[in-house]
Amino acid sequence: MLKGLHFLLTYVCTLECDHCFLYCGPHAEGTFTLAQLRDVLDEATKLRTVEFIYYEGGEPFLYYPVMVEGLKMARARGFKAGVVTNCYWATAAEDAKLWLGPVAEIGVDDLSVSDDAYHHGDVEETPAKVAAAAAAELGMPSDSICIEEPTVEFGVEKGEPVVKGGAVMRGRAVEKLAEGLPTRPWEEFDECTREELRAPGRVHLDAFGHVHVCQGLSMGNMWETPLAQLVKEYEPDAHPICGPLLNGGPAELVRAYDLDLRGEYVDECHLCFVARRALIDRFPEYLAPRQVYGLE
Ligand code: SF4
Ligand code: SF4
Repeated sequence: MLKGLHFLLTYVCTLECDHCFLYCGPHAEGTFTLAQLRDVLDEATKLRTVEFIYYEGGEPFLYYPVMVEGLKMARARGFKAGVVTNCYWATAAEDAKLWLGPVAEIGVDDLSVSDDAYHHGDVEETPAKVAAAAAAELGMPSDSICIEEPTVEFGVEKGEPVVKGGAVMRGRAVEKLAEGLPTRPWEEFDECTREELRAPGRVHLDAFGHVHVCQGLSMGNMWETPLAQLVKEYEPDAHPICGPLLNGGPAELVRAYDLDLRGEYVDECHLCFVARRALIDRFPEYLAPRQVYGLE
């Protein structure tokens, strides 16, 4: 049951993190307008299952007035609301409270702050900690997301190499972090264990209209088919990418489309990402936008 809609309010970001699933950065494109947010939130009410609306990105605070208005619109329709941010704006305690005051007034249920060396370098008092302290003072719940550089440890039972740190091999992580990590043969990746492709509990939405069941893997386009209809008519087994993934994971994508990718990969997402990128011109409606694959 679809309970959460996560607006990628913008793909633009102050940072260009190595682990970014979405290839966000200062030069990325695609930002929601207020009219688009309103339309989608109205569609969300028609679904009758949605409980939570998140604004994330990219960096949603870059479009602060639109984000604040979007939060108000979500709350006015009875949804819980949250924001995910890299906290670039939390330059000092007093300033952070100034930024968060209007957000707290709306009654936001979760401020999710990225607090790790990828986002803030190796400093003790990160902007994320400043933001979390300001949120606490304003009575706003917050939590932190921490992604560390991948490290290799050896499994206790079989002694096999295990990649730790929380980075998943999708998007820019494939380009920047995969090299040198232990790999396994392609045919072992016979299942998608990280996303609920058959009945997604949450989807990510972007300003181009894509409804992502995983980053860059779209159910369809909500500017062509209204969101409520798109979700109700979604047939995962008939979807050209989700179907094979459900049938036998990323390895099945390789078999189904006879891709020349029978090599070694770090994890299931690594194989899935390169397989999808190889199929992008064949299924442009479902594998989009190109920029989240690092393509022009
Ligand atoms: S991981 Fe987050 S902070 Fe880093 S580039 Fe992507 S959206 Fe920006
Ligand atoms: S296997 Fe593919 S669809 Fe599943 S979580 Fe990984 S990248 Fe997403």
